[in-house]
Amino acid sequence: MLEISGLKACYEDVVAIHHLDLTIEKGEIVCLLGPSGCGKSTLLRVVAGLEKAAAGVVSWDDEDLARVRVHSRGFGLMFQDYALFPHRTVEANIAFGLEMHRRPKPEIAARVSEVMAIVGLEGYGDRTIGQLSGGQQQRVALARAIAPSPKLLMFDEPLGALDRNMRERLVIELHDILTTLGTTALYVTHDQEEAFALADRVVLMRDGRIEQMGSPAELWARPRTRFAAEFLGFRNIIDVQTAKECGWPVPEGETDAVVYRPDGFEESETGAFKGVVVSRTYRGDHFVVRISPTDPAPDLLIHVRWQPVPELGQELRLTIDAESVIPVVGNAE
Ligand code: ADP
Repeated sequence: MLEISGLKACYEDVVAIHHLDLTIEKGEIVCLLGPSGCGKSTLLRVVAGLEKAAAGVVSWDDEDLARVRVHSRGFGLMFQDYALFPHRTVEANIAFGLEMHRRPKPEIAARVSEVMAIVGLEGYGDRTIGQLSGGQQQRVALARAIAPSPKLLMFDEPLGALDRNMRERLVIELHDILTTLGTTALYVTHDQEEAFALADRVVLMRDGRIEQMGSPAELWARPRTRFAAEFLGFRNIIDVQTAKECGWPVPEGETDAVVYRPDGFEESETGAFKGVVVSRTYRGDHFVVRISPTDPAPDLLIHVRWQPVPELGQELRLTIDAESVIPVVGNAE
């Protein structure tokens, strides 16, 4: 188990991590998610031993790692530039880490073919890296990282250089591979879809602190702050004052803004939301419809799965189910 407690990390006068606590259980896949500059890479680099902590403790199974060197930690790292040897073969690249650990040759050969099968590279062993596509190179880098069976495998935006289609495929494969192997993983990304597809637990970071963490389903069901809702791509985030003035439902208790989930609306003659359809976009199994309420209320996006789909210019009256009304704290930036 990885335990981070009271961690602070600085670059001269920049504080990149402020007093952060995080525990990762064995076999868990944790994604650090957040905008550029929020401290994700720094956190990962401190765990790897590439940066020093200014305060706090990082430990593995109760052993303080402060004095354990990078290569003695038994952790694996995979970055966006895969740092493969371009002129060497796939096999030689995958064997690299095992050779560093001075494993016997027959053991290395067996492990290399085992991991090639795991990542779907059978038959490619003799090719050089230069003869592979970006996606295949990514698999080689993954095979090399998992070959020594690291206690913890860390990834820093490993798919950033690939196109979205390829990323979506690889992230699902990666999830299956890590889960099958039972690998403990810490994965850095600024892409929420990637984090949600991969993680058992998502740690959303902001300015060197944890903003919110939970399973993808928990975060999706209940973003607690305006920042979390915005970063996760929620729409219809309305200040409480405005919502009240519009006569829209506002949950009890302390809240600065309200999120109205686009999926929660339905037509109702007595509904509190009134507006005119100003655009509609087809999205496969539903339409995204923008309604413009009477001034000064803000526009709302709603997902329409019912028939007939409202026409442009049509007046709508809508209600929303209580579960789709989410209170969030924090003000707009
Ligand atoms: P992220 O990975 O979320 O993009 P980083 O961990 O790279 O964020 O950066 C966190 C903060 O530390 C940022 O303010 C960044 O500018 C600063 N920082 C990162 N690396 C360095 C460095 N080598 N020297 C000085 N400041 C740095």
